[in-house]
Amino acid sequence: MFNDVLSQQKRRVDMYATETYKKAKIVGSLSKAIQQGSKYGIWVAHITNASCEICINNNGKQFSLQSLLKEFPPHINCNCNIVTDKGVSIL
Ligand SMILES: [Zn+2]
Repeated sequence: MFNDVLSQQKRRVDMYATETYKKAKIVGSLSKAIQQGSKYGIWVAHITNASCEICINNNGKQFSLQSLLKEFPPHINCNCNIVTDKGVSIL
């Protein structure tokens, strides 16, 4: 029982660490793109049968990089990408 709880907590910590690292990487890449003069990015969804409505609806649409700093990724385990107006892939 104790080991089950411990194992579950370890998986949660691993997931949060992975997602926090991913968010930091995205913020770094978006900030760098903004510094280099990019203003917009195209949302490139990774569409599978498990994709959420947000990712499917945003696929191919253009967003300001400033708004993406706050709103991307929209959820954990999101495998979408952003390609800037200068053709740079964020991930
Ligand atoms: Zn996504």
